[in-house]
Amino acid sequence: MNIALFGPPGSGKGTQAELLCDRFKLVHLSTGDILRAERRKCTELGKRVGEIMKEGRLVPDEIVGELVQKRVQEAMDEGRGVLFDGYPRNLRQLQRLESLLTVLDTQIDHFVSLDIAPPKVVDRMVSRRTCRSCGRVYNLKWQPPETDGVCDACGGELYQRADDRSEAIEKRLVEYGRQTEPLMQNLTQRGLLQKVCAEEPVEEVFSQIMELIRRNGRRQISVS
Ligand code: ADP
Ligand code: AMP
Repeated sequence: MNIALFGPPGSGKGTQAELLCDRFKLVHLSTGDILRAERRKCTELGKRVGEIMKEGRLVPDEIVGELVQKRVQEAMDEGRGVLFDGYPRNLRQLQRLESLLTVLDTQIDHFVSLDIAPPKVVDRMVSRRTCRSCGRVYNLKWQPPETDGVCDACGGELYQRADDRSEAIEKRLVEYGRQTEPLMQNLTQRGLLQKVCAEEPVEEVFSQIMELIRRNGRRQISVS
């Protein structure tokens, strides 16, 4: 089974991805996490994408597409499904992913949209803290760590992402409207996008997603 989560930055994709991957033993493919890891390692690629990410713009499709292709291939080789978090983010990325999955004789079974009003995501992003070591996400208001500034899971240092500050947040929301919403309209027109209300508490959002997965079963791959 493969799942793709959609929704504006701060809607809870990473949080729900963690729960879903745990439940279904999926590979968590977060393009944001992959790019941040490259930036941390100061690779050539990391340096190139660092500035773009800091400003809240999207990294070029070709770069992200190659990173995704490699990871999808690895997951398939291990016989595991993938949870896509933050990819695809525009129509070109969707087309590229669908072509790749067709070649691999698989598909996305559940396209889930986490619906939430913009002021709420701003509030969530401003109070988000992320572990420098393992990437686990906290929220100072709703999901604080047990000890201030320290990750419960690995003891790593918690930091505020550079793009979780106001100018970059604004830019990311504009990019979302410009690039990602048309892709979601495409999925809606094709009858593929399933919506959940992401304004509820974490466990409630998870239950809604589980319910629609149970209801839908797996999509049939059409043979042409
Ligand atoms: P995304 O991956 O979509 O950017 P995250 O999963 O990182 O979003 O969540 C953004 C912030 O909101 C984090 O600080 C997270 O702890 C918090 N959060 C996630 N889901 C909820 C929720 N249902 N209610 C309240 N806060 C949430
Ligand atoms: P995220 O962790 O999903 O909020 O992503 C953080 C940043 O990484 C984004 O603002 C982009 O700069 C970059 N990024 C993540 N995923 C993609 C993608 N699919 N396409 C282009 N850029 C991406």
